[in-house]
Amino acid sequence: MATDKLYIGTYEVDPILFTKGFANGRGPFQCESKCCSSGVWTDVSEQRVIMEHKESIKKYMDETQTQDDTVWFDPDMIDDADFVSGKAIGTQTFNDKCVFLLKDGRCSVQLFSKEELGDAWKIKPFYCIAFPICVAEGVLTFDDYQQGCAQCCSVVDNAELSMVESCKAELVYVLGAEGYLQLVAMKQQYLDTLQKGGQ
Ligand code: SF4
Repeated sequence: MATDKLYIGTYEVDPILFTKGFANGRGPFQCESKCCSSGVWTDVSEQRVIMEHKESIKKYMDETQTQDDTVWFDPDMIDDADFVSGKAIGTQTFNDKCVFLLKDGRCSVQLFSKEELGDAWKIKPFYCIAFPICVAEGVLTFDDYQQGCAQCCSVVDNAELSMVESCKAELVYVLGAEGYLQLVAMKQQYLDTLQKGGQ
């Protein structure tokens, strides 16, 4: 039944990924960096790695950012089971944007990671890479934080492509290549069941 819960590994899968997508000509590839306006929750292990590279990351900042690394992250962490360590800490904002966001919309952490570690995503926080895909209370789903605000991260019904296709890179990142293939097969099965009136 289409109403049964769907799982890939430990993640429950929200069928919204199968049934909604971006309007024609829209999508995360047109990123407007609006999602970076309020910062991001990072795993404390990600924070630690970023801070290990703090002096190098500063080289990739501009005059709209602060070099004062004592204000890059919130003073306190929170418990959150959707993070690998179970502990999350937020990046702070400066000049009304994430401390790591350059004025041109690029991310200092990503820039450093790409230029000096040879992999743009190596130390970029998980939820920054995955957005607009997220994991919320164990459910792999769409993060509607920018729905209706940023065209690049707003979904609609009856899109030509679902998020499974439009967010392939993000979903492969979260699920791995094999998990992504499972998701593609799951989508087909879900839509077939719907079409047969199974819901
Ligand atoms: S860490 Fe980088 S990608 Fe993540 S919210 Fe901040 S500026 Fe954006």
